[in-house]
This record gives sequence, structure tokens and C-alpha cells, in this order.
Amino acid sequence: MINPEVELFSDTKTRPGKAMLEAMMTAEVGDEQADEDPTTNALQKKVADLLGKEAALFVPSGTMCNQIAMAVHCQPGDEIIADKTAHIINFEASGPAVIARASIRPLDGVRGQFTVEQAQAGLRAGFRHAPDSKMIAVEQTANMGGGSIWPLEVLESLSELAKDNNLVTHMDGARLLNAVVASGVSEKDYAATVDTVWIDLSKGLGCPIGAVIAGSKEFIEKAWPWKQRLGGSMRQSGILAAAGIYALDHLVDRLTIDHANARLLATRLAQIPGVQIDPLTVETNILIIDVTEASLSGPEISAQLLEKGVRMGATGPSGLRAVTHLDVDEAGIIRAAEAFANICS
Ligand SMILES: *Cc1c(COP(=O)(O)O)cnc(C)c1O
Repeated sequence: MINPEVELFSDTKTRPGKAMLEAMMTAEVGDEQADEDPTTNALQKKVADLLGKEAALFVPSGTMCNQIAMAVHCQPGDEIIADKTAHIINFEASGPAVIARASIRPLDGVRGQFTVEQAQAGLRAGFRHAPDSKMIAVEQTANMGGGSIWPLEVLESLSELAKDNNLVTHMDGARLLNAVVASGVSEKDYAATVDTVWIDLSKGLGCPIGAVIAGSKEFIEKAWPWKQRLGGSMRQSGILAAAGIYALDHLVDRLTIDHANARLLATRLAQIPGVQIDPLTVETNILIIDVTEASLSGPEISAQLLEKGVRMGATGPSGLRAVTHLDVDEAGIIRAAEAFANICS
């Protein structure tokens, strides 16, 4: 099924609305690679200001932001500390091994988050046979941690640890704005805890394409050749950047609706026998649903939901993930919960 009626597979499935398309159609454009695209320049400035960083760079995807950051920050043979569920470990086709040629030390965190003590214990002793610890990477929010929000104090402590040990810090902020809207902590305060940070435009913000990475001027200078090398340099990218500007101006505050819908879905699903999800742990727009005790497996439930016009992805034999976004309303949530209940009864 290409377009199920209730799409909860991912917030990447959003489609640009009419107003966004109009902004794209009327965008002023030029050659991005020569810094001559005014709309791309405006988006980059807007995101740099939003995040309190010196400069920013528009690239086609969040994955490319992570790959560029790792390539700029790390020498081959360096090591990156990340949670075991991290996107850079599980969903970037071994990019760190292929592109930055860095190894990753996965930490056994809870809901996608490790502690400062775990990070400290993960640092290498600096002897001949050990990798060189170089970078601490966090995801705000933690995707496979069920959209959990890293507390500001933990990020600040990690930043201290990194400074004390000459490490760089990087934030995969695919859903940073979800964290901001849910916690009330500002973009700048979160971003101040890391050297580099990016936001995705193609997730909950509803754009068709794009992500923006921010950091020091020096970092962005070094990021450019990587963007070019990876084939991420564009031309009249203002058409895409215009969607990003529109989203940042109009679609951020409404993320609270997605969070309320996610909590509603969790509350409904928690009532189904054999289904485990604690609604209190649903902080943003992602639910990781445990069906270990249900009569059907995650993939079986996913397949049967699809027959009823509802899509959720299985995360494994006993789990599903549901993600709310601007193309799912409360009626869709109720319909999804009812379909889930019918299947499990
Ligand atoms: C989606 C996602 C990415 C990758 O972003 P794309 O724009 O799809 O390449 C990276 N990290 C996290 C946490 C994500 O959810």
C-alpha cells in the first residue's frame, strides 16, 4: 500500500502542503555552489541564528549532515561514542566506517540516552593499542529511544566531559525542534552544549527534502568540500530552502499537536491486553510499542494494520514504532488505536 489512510510509519512521510508549495514556486533562486542562491543563504542564516552558531550549511539530508560532521571532526582510526540505538550506527549504511573511517563505541543507554558516567567509562586510556576517543554524539530527540528528550543538564555535563578530554560534541538534531517545543528549553540552549548540530526539514517540519547543519565558521568551511565530495552540492536549491523557511516560520509551534496525538495513541494502546507502552514516557512524537505479551508478533500486527489502512513499522519480532506528524489528525489516531485493538483481541 503506497499511501495508507493513517500513516504512522514515520514523520518523513509528510507531504508539502499548498502554502509550502506556493513558497517554493515563488522562491528567488541562484547558483547555490557560488553562494548566489538568496533563499538558501537566507535559510542558512536563519538556522545559524536559531541555533546560536556562527554559520550553517544546507544539505540534502540529515544523514549527510552526520556524515559530514564525522568526516570533518574525525581522523581515520578515531572513535566516536554514541548510544547503541544511534542512527549513525544503525541506519547510515556503515557511513562512519566508509567515509570518516572512524569506529564507534556503542554505549548501553536507556531509551537512547547514556549517562555521563557511561561516557566517561567509554573514553579510551590513550595507549598504543587503543582507538583515539574523538567525539561524543547524541540524538535530540532519541529516535529509537521513543523520541525521548535529553535533559539539558546531562548535555551540559557531557559537554564538560568532552572539553576536559579534548573531544568534540555533535548533536543529531533530526527532531531537535520537537524537543524544544515539548520541553520549553530553547534551541540555543540545547545547541550551546555541542560543537555541531543539525535539524532535519523533512521530518516533522513537513518539507520534501533537506537538512541544515550549523557550527563555527571554520567548521562550515571544512564541511563544504565534504558536501561537494559526497555529491550534496546543489544549484537552484532555493526552491527547497523556501520550503524550509516556510516550515520554520509556520510549522514549529504545531508540533505540540503531534505530541498530544502521540500521547493519545499511547493511552489508547496501553489499554490493549498484551501491549506495553507507558504513556508517561511519550515525550514527543514517537512511540516504541512492546508486544512481547501479545498473541501476534510485531511484523504480524504491522501487516494486519496495513490491511486496515493503518501503517506502523515493526522494529523487530516484538516491537512496533509509531510516529505522529502533520498529516495525521486525532481521528486518524483513534482509528489506528481501534484497528490495533481489533487485531489483538
Ligand atoms: C531521520 C533521521 C536521520 C537521517 O535524516 P535523513 O534526512 O532521513 O537523512 C538521522 N538521525 C535521526 C535520529 C533520524 O531520525
